[in-house]
Amino acid sequence: MIDDATRPWPAAPEGSSSASPHVNVEVAIIGAGIHGCALARELTLRGVSCAVVDKGAVGGGTSQWSSQLLHGGIRYLQTGDIRQMREGLSERATWATLAPWRTRWESFWMPHRGLFEGLSHRLGIGLYDAWGKDRPGWPAAFKLGSVPKAQFAADGRAVDTPFRGAVAYADLLTWDRDLVKDLAASSTATWLDFHEVEGFEMDAGKLKSARLRDRRDGTARILAAPVWVFALGPWNDQCLHQWFGETWKRLRLSSGLHIWFDAPELLSRCARPWAMMQGHGRILFVIPRDGLLQVGTTERAVEEGCVPILDSERDELYRALEANIPSVAWRSLPVRLEEIGVRPLVRPPKDYAGTAKLSREAVLETHPKLANLRLVLGGKLTTARALMDRLATELSGQPCPRSRTEPLTKWDGQAPPMQ
Ligand SMILES: Cc1cc2nc3c(=O)[nH]c(=O)nc-3n(C[C@H](O)[C@H](O)[C@H](O)COP(=O)(O)OP(=O)(O)OC[C@H]3O[C@@H](n4cnc5c(N)ncnc54)[C@H](O)[C@@H]3O)c2cc1C
Repeated sequence: MIDDATRPWPAAPEGSSSASPHVNVEVAIIGAGIHGCALARELTLRGVSCAVVDKGAVGGGTSQWSSQLLHGGIRYLQTGDIRQMREGLSERATWATLAPWRTRWESFWMPHRGLFEGLSHRLGIGLYDAWGKDRPGWPAAFKLGSVPKAQFAADGRAVDTPFRGAVAYADLLTWDRDLVKDLAASSTATWLDFHEVEGFEMDAGKLKSARLRDRRDGTARILAAPVWVFALGPWNDQCLHQWFGETWKRLRLSSGLHIWFDAPELLSRCARPWAMMQGHGRILFVIPRDGLLQVGTTERAVEEGCVPILDSERDELYRALEANIPSVAWRSLPVRLEEIGVRPLVRPPKDYAGTAKLSREAVLETHPKLANLRLVLGGKLTTARALMDRLATELSGQPCPRSRTEPLTKWDGQAPPMQ
């Protein structure tokens, strides 16, 4: 079993970058997660030059530890954020068009405990699927709405469960890190991965250039640009403190744990993914995918972008599984992988104790002191393209309808897209 929790900042690979010692571009992006890479594609589509810097690998941050769903957010049925839901449903269809090889439609079952809960799920899910009826490539064999009783009872998870039935809804699975790499491959940006930012030069209240050090071979580089975007995910506050001494926090961070079980016998008895409402907008997922059973996720307030998995957090996930699916001996199933990711959530003006209630919506902020620096705060995989489309339009003055239709370039899985 790999314990993903104790990872250090990834070591740089052997070799060197072919980038020149002085890189001059129109837009400099720091952070090569889904937001940084989506922005690089948007700028390329508009003919604007850019460079993307990351301390680690492309797609090596939070964007590789998500639940891997491109979704409208079924949890918003509880939190009532219909605008975010509708944006997610629309973006889901866009991703299915841009990268069909990185997406797979699924019919999720949402189990219910009794008649009243079943009726309310049918109503909410009815709206969710009606608003999300644009589903390019949806397999005709997948049924939505009430799951027939016999079919629900035949699922290996239904034995002794408190649930009496289920309603099926549609959502889109993805492979998050590969999707990020496809976005990177769809751009002509200069890629400066495994580069440490050593400092910045300023000029008249603006960022002018950054001093970089290649972590592979120690080469020094200067990156200069008139416009800067930081897309640092959960590391935003930490980096602004390190680079500019800022102490106020724009984000609240929340870790989420996934466990991947290697349980072929149970897997063979699981029909479709289950999504179980846990209250306060929390969902417990049990998803058969890639020959494994993916379960998650938890929600714990944390202070850093990389955190260890706590025993209490793991125990919380097991207890939720045992309460909802008691016939499975979860703690004795072989675990292939445990993964913990940290969600960057925008800190609201009035702070709450828990993070489950916080919006997943992103904010684009112009730095209050550095007029040419934009910060990407919060957000989701699902809405990253749309948000970066808006930002690129703003920065370049050029809208680009092709952003919603031009297929991504497939990263071939052999060579990093940035070489
Ligand atoms: C448990 C969990 C489940 C989730 N599930 C979903 C889901 O199902 N669907 C969905 O749409 N969203 C989901 N999300 C949200 C989504 O994963 C994130 O919001 C998104 O990946 C953030 O992308 P980003 O580009 O902003 O950040 P990141 O991917 O973290 O990118 C930031 C980059 O900045 C780099 N960086 C950090 N420090 C420095 C530095 N000093 N110098 C240079 N570079 C630096 C990092 O290496 C990293 O590559 C989930 C999040 C979590 C944690």
